[in-house]
Amino acid sequence: MPYLQAQDISKRFNGAPVLDGVTLTVEQGESLALLGPSGCGKTTLLRILAGLEIPDRGTIVVEDAVLTDPERFVPPEDRRIGMVFQDWALFPHMTVSKNVCFGLDRSEIDQGRAIEKLELVGLAHLADRYPGELSGGQAQRVALARALAPRPRVLLFDEPFSNLDTGLRAQVRADVAALMHEVGMTSIFVTHDQEEAFVLGDRVAVMNEGRIVQVGRPSEVYQYPASPWVAAFMGAANILDGSAADGRASTPVGELRMAGAVQGPCRVVIRPEHLTVEPGGQAVISSVEYYGHDTSYELELNGAKLVTRAMAAPIFAPGDRVSVSYSGPDVIAFPAGAAHISEGPTPSS
Ligand code: ATP
Repeated sequence: MPYLQAQDISKRFNGAPVLDGVTLTVEQGESLALLGPSGCGKTTLLRILAGLEIPDRGTIVVEDAVLTDPERFVPPEDRRIGMVFQDWALFPHMTVSKNVCFGLDRSEIDQGRAIEKLELVGLAHLADRYPGELSGGQAQRVALARALAPRPRVLLFDEPFSNLDTGLRAQVRADVAALMHEVGMTSIFVTHDQEEAFVLGDRVAVMNEGRIVQVGRPSEVYQYPASPWVAAFMGAANILDGSAADGRASTPVGELRMAGAVQGPCRVVIRPEHLTVEPGGQAVISSVEYYGHDTSYELELNGAKLVTRAMAAPIFAPGDRVSVSYSGPDVIAFPAGAAHISEGPTPSS
């Protein structure tokens, strides 16, 4: 049985549905990234798990303990579910060790729990400092030590790195992910950033409009998106009109081998990094963006707009004529009228 189970969670605010039958499981020690666009209900789901919000319907069970069901509601302080917010706020007038002790009872403090957790995050030597004397990265490690101190069963993180600048963000999130695995903490990270979800999550749950639309390992969700919407949300994707027959899809970039059994008019997902551009041909470059580590070309071919990526500095300019070829795995296709939330092809392995 999974360590955390949320079953059929629904919630309305002022009559408007915000969560619509969400079911989610997390294994013990697993890190799950909850990824979705702004307003899709991620924070509401986290708050319901923490007991800060009461769902209209649904059941939450953690480690055999029923926390929410139609007859029961365990208050947040008795759930042993910790929540780390965006600002990781520390109390400025308390030392680092007092911050970490906050919320612990006397016996736990006597056991040296605060120092133990500060050692875990490598900051025991800063126990007597005040938050104003810490770097941004150190402050977040202290906040993490504080979240771990009461020994929660599950830690929930709500957009924990969004206030950090790019360099620090990559470092801190890698540290936090490593630490969660080291201590075997079951955790859920809410983010709207695909890269972040892939770095943090053993699995990723993709949410849209109050529903979970796909759950899987990062590579599964990227390579086998469950719908055109998921494909476009998870990184850049060309979604081209095509026609499918006998395992092949006819597309503006030629006839391509296809995964799955779609027949007839379809929409084909092609990742920009699987397209190669060479001089001379039917396609015309419309724009070029150089990112340093790679270059993105936007081009038009047979009436379709395409985006490609090349791991090199730009060698083409707008107006250049080029040819485009596909070199990637068998493409994923969806029936032309595919619903927003559809069952897509699944990995064959
Ligand atoms: P973001 O990434 O922008 O934080 P989110 O996916 O976390 O978004 P939620 O914060 O869960 O989304 O909000 C989902 C919807 O519910 C939004 O439309 C929001 O305005 C609405 N909502 C959230 N809390 C309340 C509330 N207490 N009262 C009324 N509406 C609310």
